[in-house]
Amino acid sequence: MRFDIITCLPGLLKGPFNDSILQRAQTKGLLEVVVHDLREFGKGKHKQIDDYAYGGGAGMVMMIEPILVCVNDLKSKRTYDEIIYMSPDGKLFNQSMANELSLLNNVIILAGHYKGVDERIREHIVTREISIGNYVLSGGELPAAVVVDAVGRLIPGVLSNETSALTDSFQDDLVAPPVYTRPSDFDGMKVPEVLLSGNEKAIEDWRFEQAIERTKSRRPGLIHKEENN
Ligand code: SAH
Repeated sequence: MRFDIITCLPGLLKGPFNDSILQRAQTKGLLEVVVHDLREFGKGKHKQIDDYAYGGGAGMVMMIEPILVCVNDLKSKRTYDEIIYMSPDGKLFNQSMANELSLLNNVIILAGHYKGVDERIREHIVTREISIGNYVLSGGELPAAVVVDAVGRLIPGVLSNETSALTDSFQDDLVAPPVYTRPSDFDGMKVPEVLLSGNEKAIEDWRFEQAIERTKSRRPGLIHKEENN
């Protein structure tokens, strides 16, 4: 799977993909993340990418043309399944959306800045808009990294043990049960006895019960299937 991220601040995306799971996924050739500096597609001598908002008001707006030129350049090289704009008012990102996106091959993610992008980009170029939560960040780079991380780890072969993504929270509309590691007794704080029993069936039952209890107390909406819980 390939992600092309378009940003005016490529430096913000230097870190997130160069460690641990996502870095290994790239080394194994399962995931490719390419960051494009929008400034290179800017207009004129100053490589302008933003301008004042029509109608006045504070804050700059990202111009159509540099984004369009960059997107068209990418589209001339391969076919894209989605052109995603990260936006606070987009559809709220969740695990099922991550699952759905992990089936795609080529995805462009556009990270906005300032007041956002000219609306015509959203109307005519973008195919999907995603928000990572009801709060406003200063740019779409961190949201883009969140999406690439959540999706990238679902690509078959990325996690060493494939079942480990399946046992994570939200995959079955339940949050994950608690986990423990050695020592079994730390200053009187004990690990639940059943986990030390070696009885696989009992352990599996306990984990399932815990997942249900936790979901009821922490994310009751998952059980009642409320949207956006
Ligand atoms: N004026 C806009 C916010 C712009 S924030 C508004 O009020 O809706 C600048 C950029 O940050 C946005 O273009 C978007 O790409 C990104 N961004 C900010 N918060 C985000 C969120 N919660 N989810 C996804 N992208 C976000």
